[in-house]
Amino acid sequence: MDERIESLRRRIDELNLDLLRLLSERAAVAEAIGRRQTEVGVSHYDPVREQAMLDALVGANRGPFSDATVKSLFKQVFQASMQLEQEQDKVQYLTSRRHRDADTIVWIGDVAIGGDHPAVLIAGPCAIESREQVMATAAHVAQRGVKLFRGGAFKPRTDPYSFQGLGVEGLELGREACDAHGLRFVAEIMDASDLPAFERHVDMLQIGARNMQNFHLLKAVGRSRLPVLLKRGLAATIEEWVMAAEYLLHEGNPNVVLCERGIRTYERFTRNTLDVSAVALAKLETHLPVLVDVTHSGGRRDLLVPLTKAALATGADGIMVEVHPNPAVALSDQKQQVDFDGFDAYLEATLFPRTLTAGRTELYRG
Ligand code: PEP
Ligand code: MN
Repeated sequence: MDERIESLRRRIDELNLDLLRLLSERAAVAEAIGRRQTEVGVSHYDPVREQAMLDALVGANRGPFSDATVKSLFKQVFQASMQLEQEQDKVQYLTSRRHRDADTIVWIGDVAIGGDHPAVLIAGPCAIESREQVMATAAHVAQRGVKLFRGGAFKPRTDPYSFQGLGVEGLELGREACDAHGLRFVAEIMDASDLPAFERHVDMLQIGARNMQNFHLLKAVGRSRLPVLLKRGLAATIEEWVMAAEYLLHEGNPNVVLCERGIRTYERFTRNTLDVSAVALAKLETHLPVLVDVTHSGGRRDLLVPLTKAALATGADGIMVEVHPNPAVALSDQKQQVDFDGFDAYLEATLFPRTLTAGRTELYRG
């Protein structure tokens, strides 16, 4: 290489570094201006100021770049500064992957949900109805390797004359059944005033679809030490769902698991439509574990297996399914709960016995 060119290139390299230093210094000043503008509530974009700066630069331009080239170079610099100013206005959401890159692992006792841990299965009746019913179900699912037991004691029912749950007595029965069979207890809370009773009896609080935007409840539960399963609202956007989780984290509860449970669409063959893209997106956008409730999603027993496979293939960290000793006489969700034989067939067909103990989603990944 020609000696002269070499030496000029070394000079260019030095000038590049000088320019970078000056641009960075300029950017830091622009950021400081941006912060002050936000404080006093004025816009970052000021076209009059921008024109004045361009005029001054053109006035000072002695070549060899043309005035048009100088303008276009500096417009790029202005735009980059503007982007920085807008970026720093954005709230840093605690739920966001941008805030925390690593997967959050939520522990329910010794059961881990999220990260590379095997997919969990939460199983149990829609509602706790009696000691016999809850004991029998807990015994059956525990015998099959399930660690997390569900059962509603306070039920959000569309019809005010239908079974509303056993209340605190249901929580006590659920606790008793879980203790008898080494299970962790997950139950839905509907009213913040019930929190002391829940804290006495359950291992994980569930916020149901109908209460996803009950901000008073979210704030109270966010101050609890118990982990939370946050269902997606019946017609909630993914953003609204994640914002509901943000309330919980903001109040100081980091142990939040999201749960997709189907959304309302025009489709009538299913009770709700399982939104698998929401599962994938929740995993991409947030660091929280994501479960799928396959029972309420489809509202059909014949969809439990395919929806489970779809959920796990999409990256879900676990599944929730409703099991009842005799669904025909269940006091809620008769059509969608599975009996014990149905549950065993479900486990067999989904390979859950293996996924519960060994590696997980590779079973469903192509
Ligand atoms: C439930 O899981 O008991 C329940 C009522 O579900 P959802 O809130 O998703 O309708
Ligand atoms: Mn139910």
